[in-house]
Amino acid sequence: MSRAIYPGSFDPVTLGHLDIIKRSSEIFDEVIIGVLNNTSKSPLFSLEERVNMLNEVVSDIPNVKAVSFDGLLVEFAKENDIKVIVRGLRAVTDFEYELQMAQSNRKIAPDIDTLFLTTNIEYAYLSSSIVKEFASYGVDVNELVPELVALELKKKMGIDK
Ligand code: ADP
Repeated sequence: MSRAIYPGSFDPVTLGHLDIIKRSSEIFDEVIIGVLNNTSKSPLFSLEERVNMLNEVVSDIPNVKAVSFDGLLVEFAKENDIKVIVRGLRAVTDFEYELQMAQSNRKIAPDIDTLFLTTNIEYAYLSSSIVKEFASYGVDVNELVPELVALELKKKMGIDK
């Protein structure tokens, strides 16, 4: 059985992420979305909120589930019999960092490969940070994130309509 992990912060999940999730779910038997418990970043949504939102938005994709993890990604992958790490590439600016991560991971875990999916051009500019910035100014983010996330963002920002 082919099992992949799509790791990230997902603070919050966007339609760009969801596009990568759907496409990976067609490539692999099982896709685990690994939500990183990164203590060096201070997220808008708690780890539990991010995992719950992801599980809600992927509830119609049977071979995908979101879980949280901390520590080294490749260790988590090994423990869960995962052989492939999926990452999304939006632009050249993502490339240098992603290449470094992929090569470092391969150094410590030669059995695990990183697979890059290029973004759907429609979402090439989209990031969780942009979404949070827009939402904080009351800009409508309905076309950037799943409906549930847009609602949760409004609650977080104290905008209830
Ligand atoms: P991280 O903090 O690890 O960068 P993110 O949640 O920002 O986590 O992103 C997780 C993954 O999704 C990364 O591989 C990132 O490049 C990818 N990604 C983010 N936004 C998009 C998008 N709009 N289209 C395609 N891939 C994306």
